[in-house]
Amino acid sequence: MPLRVSLFQLYGPTRILPEKKLDFSDLTALSFTMPPAMEHDNETNLAKGSLMRFSILLANLMVLLAPAGVQAQKSGPFAYDLVKRQALVLGQLDAELKSLDTLYKYLHSHPELSYEEEKTAARLAKELRTLGFTVTEKVGGHGIVGVLKNGAGPTVLIRTDMDALPIVEKTGVAYASKIRTRDKEGRDVGIMHACGHDMHMTCWVGTARVLANLKKHWRGTLVFIGQPAEEVGAGARMMLQDGLFKRFPRPDYCLGLHCDSRLPHGHVGYTEGLSLVNVDSVDILVKGKGGHGSAPHTTIDPIVISARIILDLQTLVSRENNPLDPAVVTVGSIHGGTKHNIIPAEVKMQLTVRSTRDDVRARLLEGIQRITKAAAFAAKAPEPVVRIEQDNFTPALYNTVEVAKKTSKVFRAVLGDDKVHEQKPLMGGEDFSRYIREGVPGFFFFLGTLPPERVEAMRMGKAPPISLHSDLYYPVPEPSMRTGVMSMSMAALNLLKTAP
Ligand SMILES: [Zn+2]
Ligand SMILES: [Zn+2]
Repeated sequence: MPLRVSLFQLYGPTRILPEKKLDFSDLTALSFTMPPAMEHDNETNLAKGSLMRFSILLANLMVLLAPAGVQAQKSGPFAYDLVKRQALVLGQLDAELKSLDTLYKYLHSHPELSYEEEKTAARLAKELRTLGFTVTEKVGGHGIVGVLKNGAGPTVLIRTDMDALPIVEKTGVAYASKIRTRDKEGRDVGIMHACGHDMHMTCWVGTARVLANLKKHWRGTLVFIGQPAEEVGAGARMMLQDGLFKRFPRPDYCLGLHCDSRLPHGHVGYTEGLSLVNVDSVDILVKGKGGHGSAPHTTIDPIVISARIILDLQTLVSRENNPLDPAVVTVGSIHGGTKHNIIPAEVKMQLTVRSTRDDVRARLLEGIQRITKAAAFAAKAPEPVVRIEQDNFTPALYNTVEVAKKTSKVFRAVLGDDKVHEQKPLMGGEDFSRYIREGVPGFFFFLGTLPPERVEAMRMGKAPPISLHSDLYYPVPEPSMRTGVMSMSMAALNLLKTAP
């Protein structure tokens, strides 16, 4: 891809400086492309990478050697700041990549389940301390908080999650996890970073290194948090309840990223506003009266009641909900009975319930209880138990529009217009939303992680789609972390105060 940004355009003789001051809204017009060094290393890209570095060097030189008029303007035009910042970040990133790759592979092969992130948290705490952060451990379980004060300016929180999933890894990569453990039910399970939280941690450490090493270029306070128990929707609540926004500097902004299994590496995706939805987990215990399968009249059959409940639940979305408000009610698990000729005494069901609006959520949860009780009543069965897991509820994630606009413009300028995608919201959940719900403006974006050829094959229907939480999913390490560290560092620098 040709290097479309022309430094000549920015500093050339015909128009050394734009007539009007450049601000963020001018950025898209500048048409930067992604620094080629951020793509997979191959000969062409290496050549392009050298060209980009040379261009950045040249830009810096031109600014240094520029006449006074240009110097006077340099703090105004964002173009100058952007090129300079990108060059500074790229320099740091190049120096850190090898060690970040080692860190990533260590984290990938040493996953820990939700609530058990002890060693992972200790490793991250050590990384931050080395960089001069003041680190507090055990904030809401195994959560860690690192604070780096650097003069007067905004406070920016950057979050990573730390937990992995009970999955036996089948990726076949050399650094695959071989860890096994017992789950809550005592079953032997593997543990795998199948949601990319290892990549989030690596990008987080990389960004901490870049920003700590570039301290003289910004002012403000960094709050880096390592959050436990994201996969069970509990970690953000636990950290907030343990005083995250009271014991430590309250952030003016919060930032987070998540691996994306649809986008190629080098690309990022985001939404302005709604990104992810309300997620509730509901447990239902349908009670009946057990007995012999040949004598149903002597029993109250909870299996028939459950079947009725499942069908009636469908009407919550199809009949009671405004079709323009997205909603999902899924019965994901049903267990009852042991043998052909035994009518069991009870049936257990587990539901996931999703919505984008809080009033829709309230109606769905009320409806589940109403339908379940009504079915039991109709069958003269004992009252069923409906348990809504309030603690692990994940609220819908709404990106703050102003922060989304401001940050995505920088992404377009740094990565290239064609590599930054405004996406549709997903019916998934993420408890990063809780930080924004506490009144902190925030932005959560998605990091492309797949080989481009795989994405193309998926698009053409020649390869099956892959999702997070798959035993086969893994991000391509180096190019993913390049884009992750670059985008997160540039996002943070864009919110912090520029040093005079
Ligand atoms: Zn996940
Ligand atoms: Zn995740």
